[in-house]
Amino acid sequence: MNTKDKTILVVDDTESNIDMLLAILKDYDVIPSTSGKDAIGVVENENIDLILLDIMMPEMDGYEVCTILKSKKKTSQIPVIFITAKSDEESIEMAYKVGGIDYVTKPFKPRELLARVRTQLQLREMMADLDYLASRDGMTGIYNRRKFFELSIAQIEQSNQIYGVMIDIDNFKEINDTYGHQVGDEILIGITNSISSNLEEDDIFGRLGGEEFAIIAKRESKDRAVELMEHIKEEISKVEVKSEDGVVVKATVSIGVSEKIEGDNADTLLKRADSALYTAKGEGKNRVRLR
Ligand code: GH3
Ligand code: MG
Ligand code: MG
Repeated sequence: MNTKDKTILVVDDTESNIDMLLAILKDYDVIPSTSGKDAIGVVENENIDLILLDIMMPEMDGYEVCTILKSKKKTSQIPVIFITAKSDEESIEMAYKVGGIDYVTKPFKPRELLARVRTQLQLREMMADLDYLASRDGMTGIYNRRKFFELSIAQIEQSNQIYGVMIDIDNFKEINDTYGHQVGDEILIGITNSISSNLEEDDIFGRLGGEEFAIIAKRESKDRAVELMEHIKEEISKVEVKSEDGVVVKATVSIGVSEKIEGDNADTLLKRADSALYTAKGEGKNRVRLR
């Protein structure tokens, strides 16, 4: 863990405490704050990995600050370690109740404080790794089915110019049967990379299973959406994989596109895209169809 990459927000109304914490945490990127209100502003605008939060402060105390942070989606996952001069059971119980993950008592014991900070940062990193693994397809690295649908729900609600896309590799069984599973896997990865490089950051792209992919994309018109998919289809046809015998293997895809209508959710939107995909297959594959 590169400690300078970790940003710790330190909130305490007493300057001398801040100075001490800055000295103890000198190996980290530390942002100091002297009030709860200021701290909430910082957390909203910066990427904070950990918060050290004083309990007794004028205007807004640490409990209140923590309660607010825990109630917001963007900030609820940031671990909060309380700093307190109090060691009575009630105060400590309260610290956990409002969402604190740990507490340290004043006066500071530098090595203990550092150990607690390190532990929480490591746990946070592990959580992020787990979250990544749980949301990605192991082979291609794009979103898995579960994450794809989770993200799609919000995206579909946000705008009306939303398009659903279903992509299926043509005759993929034959490719596997002829050249082996390894070549099939490389085709899958090559096609995924080709699609990814033609999408925008906001587009949601996932592997729904096997050789089936889906996209939720915001575009200004039906023509733009179809144009993009025609382009992606062409780019995919250029993906080349070499078999063990040195044969150049290529694949094509069929693509179904649907336009969001009133009352659509991810399921209904993609069902129409799937029916457009079915049409594309029926008409001879390697083509884009809209519904
Ligand atoms: P169509 O053009 O109608 O889509 O025919 P198809 O052969 O592509 O479709 P079918 O559903 O009959 O076969 C899909 C094949 O995809 C069968 C399966 O072995 C292969 N497949 C699914 N997942 C993977 C994978 O992760 N790696 C490889 N190599 N093959 C896979
Ligand atoms: Mg197929
Ligand atoms: Mg299939």
